[in-house]
Amino acid sequence: MSHTPPLDPKKPKNVKVSQLCELCHARKALIKRPKNLQKVCKLCFFHVFETEIHNTIVSNKLFVEGEKVAVGASGGKDSTVLAYLLKLLNERHNYGIHIVLLSIDEGIVGYRDDSLATVKRNKEQYNLPLEIVSYRELYDWTMDEIVACAGVRNSCTYCGVFRRQALDRGAAKLGIKHVVTGHNADDMAETVLMNILRGDVARLEKSTAIMTQSSGSPIKRSKPFKYAYQKEIVLYAHYKKLDYFSTECTYAPEAFRGTARELMKNLEAVRPSCIIDIIHSGESLRLLPKKAKRAPPTSHVEVRSDGSISLPRQGFVDGNRCERCGYLSSNKICKACMLLEGLQQNRAKMAIDSDVSVHGAAKLTRTLEKLTF
Ligand code: SF4
Ligand SMILES: [Zn+2]
Ligand SMILES: [Zn+2]
Repeated sequence: MSHTPPLDPKKPKNVKVSQLCELCHARKALIKRPKNLQKVCKLCFFHVFETEIHNTIVSNKLFVEGEKVAVGASGGKDSTVLAYLLKLLNERHNYGIHIVLLSIDEGIVGYRDDSLATVKRNKEQYNLPLEIVSYRELYDWTMDEIVACAGVRNSCTYCGVFRRQALDRGAAKLGIKHVVTGHNADDMAETVLMNILRGDVARLEKSTAIMTQSSGSPIKRSKPFKYAYQKEIVLYAHYKKLDYFSTECTYAPEAFRGTARELMKNLEAVRPSCIIDIIHSGESLRLLPKKAKRAPPTSHVEVRSDGSISLPRQGFVDGNRCERCGYLSSNKICKACMLLEGLQQNRAKMAIDSDVSVHGAAKLTRTLEKLTF
């Protein structure tokens, strides 16, 4: 798409040619784009950033006219920019979609309560409806309670499993079949890198998909920021003066992800294009067809006396539903229900015998490490 610089009659005086925007050649360059180091003025930056997101949406046919779309809104920079931009592009290009903000309250005091206050302000600022779904109402646990019971080490594993289900349930409650999230290019490159480093080939192939939908699930998920650099999202939010929440979660990200993130940042400092290059590499990967494994199917979840759980082994059947909560699951009981069962056992043991509970928590941690999500 050709670039049309926005009109600005005020051409700065006494500006050296080298300082002029490389796109409009009229205004002073203010931003060096992290993506390609191009020096651009503020208005051209807004224009190219918005146009790139629009092009991603259009070329991947993300939206259907009349569709209701929920933005997974955390109050952080990515989802705030996403909500703002989707509203803007929807009006500018007539996508004809109906946007709703959908937030998850994990129950993390000092973090999520504050970030939800931001989402509530965004609701007013962008005039968009907001629905909040909490772990407390869905699972009768908060993340703070889970961490107190099972330790901080696997907090993101629990949180990730529960959030995925919570978003689907929130969307279903609103009659919405499409959830968009603010995952950006850095997140995606980081995930590709992690899957390569741990040899998780099954997830590697799916990790660069812009849209995913579990078989049998009515809800699709998409990532319009798949090619947007995190630094550009921050710059956009900053120069647009968007109201977002920037504090990190109380519970540190998973150690391995943190290390992969660090590695990505170091690589980006040397070669900015490496984020997109990793995504393109991931997109080009094709896995060899797998030989079918023969494992004797067992259909029950074993809960050991110490509160740890063992996973049932059975063939994956698309569209299976969890026996307890009805959520889509390849096993009889879904991952969330299995984790909840382990937590309940652990909580009961903690009340009876603190020694056993320590042992039980350690076992649960080991079991979690074996889970593949
Ligand atoms: S950092 Fe981990 S615990 Fe905190 S909100 Fe994210 S996934 Fe949940
Ligand atoms: Zn310009
Ligand atoms: Zn379940």
